[in-house]
Amino acid sequence: MDIHEYQSKELLSRFGIPIPRGGLAYSPEQAAYRAREIGGERWVVKAQVHSGGRGKAGGVALCHTENEVYETADKLFGARLVTEQTGGTGKVVYRVYIEGAVSIAKELYLGLVLDRTAERIMVVASQSGGMEINEISRTRPDSIIRSVIEPAVGMPVFQAREIAFQLGVPLALINETVEVISGCYQAFEQLDATMVEINPLVVTEEGSLFALDAKMTFDDNALFRRPDVAELRDKSQEDPRETRAADRGLSYVGLDGTIGCIVNGGGLAMATMDMIKLSGGSAANFLDIGGGASPERMAKAFRLVVSDQNVAAVLINVFAGINRCDWVAEGLVQAIRRDPVGVPIVVRLAGAYVDEGRRIISQSGLPIIHASTLAEAATRVVKAAQSANVANDVSRLIKP
Ligand code: ADP
Ligand code: MG
Repeated sequence: MDIHEYQSKELLSRFGIPIPRGGLAYSPEQAAYRAREIGGERWVVKAQVHSGGRGKAGGVALCHTENEVYETADKLFGARLVTEQTGGTGKVVYRVYIEGAVSIAKELYLGLVLDRTAERIMVVASQSGGMEINEISRTRPDSIIRSVIEPAVGMPVFQAREIAFQLGVPLALINETVEVISGCYQAFEQLDATMVEINPLVVTEEGSLFALDAKMTFDDNALFRRPDVAELRDKSQEDPRETRAADRGLSYVGLDGTIGCIVNGGGLAMATMDMIKLSGGSAANFLDIGGGASPERMAKAFRLVVSDQNVAAVLINVFAGINRCDWVAEGLVQAIRRDPVGVPIVVRLAGAYVDEGRRIISQSGLPIIHASTLAEAATRVVKAAQSANVANDVSRLIKP
């Protein structure tokens, strides 16, 4: 789970990370009021969306008057910010953070990530932070500082000190930098994060240290024991289809083709998508129903998959091991009887009790297209989707 910059700053400041004065706003009026509260003569207005690269996309602006803060916030609210990380659809700005502007002497990079290869938390740091960090890591990878944390030891002060020296901060700021690095590690550990990133961590003209940006990502599987973190979730920043599925205990991945896929297991999902591609089609989504296929679960799965406007046909590909094909078929038939789906459905069942499963489907009298192999299923569903698309286009043409 991702959270907003202002939320990350609030959490990190509890661990001793210095942040400039700031306040959140939900309207331009409130933004101007926040600027007055913060005081000073320059403010930065920052769009709160779950993405980095906001600066380059016009989501971070320096303002010199309260009126300018108002105008900038007014432009940002409701706008769709398209950054290099959001994909083409972008993310809508509903919250804006106003922060006192600081005079930057040097921008550094500090990140802690869960390195899955090393199976350790890794500190990644650089003397050249800010908006060009991706460029630096590409062109001068050797300049990136990396330090692995031994889980049995945690982060000893000398390790943080070594990183602080490598970052080249002025001597007077070494201790404070050590505290920032240790604080980030503690936050990471104690809040079950998978990433903590401060970019930029700045040294100001006046010689102080500030985190000007902060990003934290959390382990979804640990949220149950971190209710104070879990409540920071902002669903407006997530793919609504994935959110709805997760809320119903199903895992859903939205894609941009025309065939809805209901499968069990991630491996089968990948194989199914490959076969669809090979047959000349493309998947609109896939939904993993996991082990169970009760009529209720099937009905929820259908509703989610066809709620995507692009879905022209559905492919159900289930390999029953723990499950049984007759139970899946029964769930499927009941779900469709209760709530007709409206697009062609192709079913391929394999595994335990497959003959019983097929019999249930053929005796149901429902217009379900049956396939015995995955290749056959893929060919049929692609064909069904193509003719459904044509039918759709025709009916659109006929409509006044
Ligand atoms: P993003 O990483 O999404 O582009 P940042 O919060 O890092 O957003 O802001 C982009 C840049 O704007 C920073 O690298 C920094 O140079 C500048 N900036 C951000 N906050 C402040 C601030 N409070 N005072 C001065 N400059 C700032
Ligand atoms: Mg940044």
